Amino acid sequence: MRHVRRLLPAQQKRAIKLAALRDCGRRCVYCAAPLDYEHATLDHVQPLAKGGADAPGNVVAACPPCNRLKADMLPVEFFMRYPWAGSNFIHHARAVHRALKRQARRAVSLAFAGVPAAA
Ligand SMILES: [Zn+2]
Repeated sequence: MRHVRRLLPAQQKRAIKLAALRDCGRRCVYCAAPLDYEHATLDHVQPLAKGGADAPGNVVAACPPCNRLKADMLPVEFFMRYPWAGSNFIHHARAVHRALKRQARRAVSLAFAGVPAAA
């Protein structure tokens, strides 16, 4: 299923965005800012460009600045560089795959232990 992108009808996109918002407590999972439907963006935790799935479990709600900041970074790179984002992600991204949460916890603890983000 990797690299397969289906075009979704607008209604299905809306349903996915609403579900992601609900699952993330209507907050940006990275900075915890409250989000409404109009301002929320969808972020693929594991980027599509790097093999991530366009499916629940890999999709979270994020504010536009965080989405731009993360861009195509792998979650581990992003969370090691910005451990605050990892800490918020662990708390607010309730419906993501457990493997992604494990990665986030590891990245945050490495970041706080002073391991360089480039590792
Ligand atoms: Zn944010």
